[in-house]
Amino acid sequence: MIRLIGGRVIDPGSGRDEIADVLIDNDRLVDRATPNGDTTVIDVSGYVVAPGFVDLHCHLREPGYEDTETIATGTRAAAAGGFTTLCALADTRPSIDTGSDVESLLTQARRDAMVRVLPVGTTTKQRDGAELSEMADMADAGAVAFSDDGRAVRSASLMRHALEYSLLVERPISSHAQDPDLVDGGVMHEGPLATVLGLKGIPREAEEIFVARDLALAGLTGGRLHLAHLSTAAAVGLVRRAKAAGVRVTAEVAPHNLVLSDAAITARPYDTNARTDPPLRSVEDSRALLEGLRDGTIDCVATDHSPRRWIDKACEFDQAKTGISGLETAFGLLMRLVHSRALSLPELVGALTHRPAGAWGLPYGTLQPGAAADVVVLDPDQAWVVDPERFLSKGKNTPLGGQTLRGTVLMTIANGSIVYRNGL
Ligand SMILES: [Zn+2]
Repeated sequence: MIRLIGGRVIDPGSGRDEIADVLIDNDRLVDRATPNGDTTVIDVSGYVVAPGFVDLHCHLREPGYEDTETIATGTRAAAAGGFTTLCALADTRPSIDTGSDVESLLTQARRDAMVRVLPVGTTTKQRDGAELSEMADMADAGAVAFSDDGRAVRSASLMRHALEYSLLVERPISSHAQDPDLVDGGVMHEGPLATVLGLKGIPREAEEIFVARDLALAGLTGGRLHLAHLSTAAAVGLVRRAKAAGVRVTAEVAPHNLVLSDAAITARPYDTNARTDPPLRSVEDSRALLEGLRDGTIDCVATDHSPRRWIDKACEFDQAKTGISGLETAFGLLMRLVHSRALSLPELVGALTHRPAGAWGLPYGTLQPGAAADVVVLDPDQAWVVDPERFLSKGKNTPLGGQTLRGTVLMTIANGSIVYRNGL
């Protein structure tokens, strides 16, 4: 048994925010100790105890791109970031198209993973947008959602069929909602800064047109739509109206889109580590995303952890691959919103725990007795300097290198095992 004593327990799913002990018996949370148990007591007074974070959007790169990340390194990074459940996207090589692809990913995860890995299958075979994948087969094997993420499903008719299918398999279709024709080789947010830098912009409308399309198709079919990584104010408005009209839609925002803006590209000249997909946008967009998160229009934060090789970022801005290695900085970066009083700590914990779990109907992100023993211990005030070379992820790509973040993960317990310990 493990007994965490004296911490501030924040469990937004059950409305708890109180000083209390948390008890773990094997892989479960319990409300009282069993006699004769061997107990490890850890004093966490002065710190916050919360459910392990749930990430609906994470690229682990295995199989196929093991030089970029593996299940072993990605889940170790997750543990250091406080995440105990990762939904792994399907843009691997081969992509996750069939039940047996899902099974082999789960087998690999059982061997190598430090935290829970839940596979997301593709929406279309090999993500090429021509033919739907074997969703029923993948759902039976354990896929929790379907997505061609990294690419939009270009055909509206195929997206319609995917959403119809989502009803049969009772899993959401997660959409990388972005019109590829309108992206048209753009590399950053289309705005004044792109003009100054001489870089081709991606208009907000690239996202908004596909968000509107997908919302219309979700309304038409009654299917379950999940919108990945929203980045624009108008997209938030579209989702807000659709939810009010009863469309079955959930949505996520990435920490970097919520906290940073396109100005991050100039913190270092043409910083390729700040090239993301969708791009970092304006301060006004970030503000609208935050408002959407606070009022429930956006269901949760998801990291879109996208590790890259050094070589894929050590090049011209318009040649660089997109993405941020985000698992290890998510909490510290998001804490900027708490320290600036834009968000309360329980709101932030909720956006990382029961809200993502609830969006996809996963039984995690809670400290209720009987639930899986996924727990994090956090110090909201401890400052640290981001040193990408010390990341456990193979991806060292972050625009936050050298910056000070205030808020750190002291311990992560996944399924009852201590998988990360930092000074506790
Ligand atoms: Zn995406």
